[in-house]
Amino acid sequence: MGGGTAGWITASVVAAESLKRGDGAVEVVLIESPDIPIIGVGEGTWPSMRMTLQRIGLAEDELIRECSASFKQGTRFRAWSGLPGNPEYIHPFSLPLEYSDLNPAKYWLALGDDNRAGTSFADLVTPQARVIELGLAPKQAGAPQYAFTVNYGYHFDAAAFAGLLHRHAVGKLGVQYIAGNVEGIESDVNGDIAAVALDTGERVPGDLFVDCTGQKALLIGAHYGSPLASVKDVLFNDRAIAVQVPYAEPGDPIAPVTLSTALPHGWIWDIGLGSRRGVGYVHSSAHADEEKALEALKTYVAETSPGIDLAGLGFRTIPFEPGYRERFWIGNCVAVGLSAGFIEPLEASALVLIEQSAAIIGEQLPRDREIMDVVAGRFNDRMRYHWLRIVEFLKLHYAVSAREDSDYWKENRARETWPASLREKITLWQQQPPWHDDAPRLDELFPSASYQYVLYGMGFRPRYGATGEARDERMRERADEVFHGVRMKARQMARLLPTTRELVDGFCDSASLRAE
Ligand SMILES: Cc1cc2nc3c(=O)[nH]c(=O)nc-3n(C[C@H](O)[C@H](O)[C@H](O)COP(=O)(O)OP(=O)(O)OC[C@H]3O[C@@H](n4cnc5c(N)ncnc54)[C@H](O)[C@@H]3O)c2cc1C
Repeated sequence: MGGGTAGWITASVVAAESLKRGDGAVEVVLIESPDIPIIGVGEGTWPSMRMTLQRIGLAEDELIRECSASFKQGTRFRAWSGLPGNPEYIHPFSLPLEYSDLNPAKYWLALGDDNRAGTSFADLVTPQARVIELGLAPKQAGAPQYAFTVNYGYHFDAAAFAGLLHRHAVGKLGVQYIAGNVEGIESDVNGDIAAVALDTGERVPGDLFVDCTGQKALLIGAHYGSPLASVKDVLFNDRAIAVQVPYAEPGDPIAPVTLSTALPHGWIWDIGLGSRRGVGYVHSSAHADEEKALEALKTYVAETSPGIDLAGLGFRTIPFEPGYRERFWIGNCVAVGLSAGFIEPLEASALVLIEQSAAIIGEQLPRDREIMDVVAGRFNDRMRYHWLRIVEFLKLHYAVSAREDSDYWKENRARETWPASLREKITLWQQQPPWHDDAPRLDELFPSASYQYVLYGMGFRPRYGATGEARDERMRERADEVFHGVRMKARQMARLLPTTRELVDGFCDSASLRAE
């Protein structure tokens, strides 16, 4: 139920997995209200989206062409650290080189602030930092679809993406589409949902119902009453103002990362698509009134797009309650997308959770009702784990900031507002850098490397200096070799890679040539 990104991704993945199994027994039906629009934001993805699109058999050039998509290599954080001399840092998608058994933070810390000669942590450990600095694309023109030189996800037009998935799912994967408003829910004696009733008079029965009705959460919330566990006391942001900003010229450069600029009461996202930018101010309504927030966003747009006609832009306010469901799968109903929860878009972790949820449902689609309870129990455990980690990782961005220009930042920095797990980790990181133990699971959303990028990017320095290992000559030589390798690769990539704009335009040109 629901035709936003969550509904279409889940329907596509379940249908594609069923086709792959070749059992032909699964019928996927997507019901969408013709009256309730999709949320239409959610324009930054993770690299996992490449796997999801391949899984459902969607060509990359179709995505680039039809969704005005571009390539995202991570996030550039501006004004987050609050430390003099540290205006910005990058959280790239690529892991540090040889990260499986070399913890680069030990050696970076051992260098000491005076000896780094302006080299940031990201610069030292991955060539992607340089690629991003230069505005380059993550792969060469003509590289196979989805192949990469450095890891990437996408920036795209969310409404166009839902439309593309709709056409693909119905046209290629056999998903059936019904336009109608769900008005009634019919229950079985065991409490399962037997069918939903539409305002068209149609009754749609089913074995499994996926609630993708967005913030309405019609099945998991309104029907089953699974409470939303609020995290507002940890992550204060509960409102966004979004706007689409045209480029001054069609060939303007496209930023290879999401730009995230911290302000006194929140932060602004700035996402470069092929045809426009998507910009928005996420903030806390308890700390900033709406008028001031709108003014702050307008100032940002005016500064980054000199001469733009602000009156001609459509600013849209989107309130949200930051939190997640206590249970995501109840009986024969599972929530995916905004109905399952939402916490501010920092680090863009919503779509990746949708992808993971869809993958579990598609791969483990229960053959009978008994199995469903087991799959549901595991799904609930796994999603709960992910939400807890997301809360922890997002809060890290605020917790280690030195900003104290507003109550918003002071409260964010106050340890009482940190989750206990984060307090524990930050205490431990005073003597040892984050490592695999800090994010131990295979399906972890944020590897320990992500904690390192944010921590050292923000200027965190541990209470206790270099560990013994970093003084061990043999280990240091190996680290030096690896870091030298990073510099070599960065130079090579700088020579070979096109700009992001060139790659995006190349995709569109070759598609239009084929069409001719
Ligand atoms: C400000 C903001 C910024 C974001 N940025 C990012 C980002 O950069 N990256 C990221 O990963 N995520 C981001 N997200 C999250 C992302 O937008 C969502 O996770 C994603 O769009 C999925 O939405 P959805 O499909 O769950 O809901 P929606 O898009 O709201 O779709 C709900 C669907 O349910 C249907 N529906 C509702 N009621 C009924 C009914 N009675 N009968 C039938 N159908 C019904 C509607 O018609 C609609 O089709 C952001 C979210 C916000 C609020």
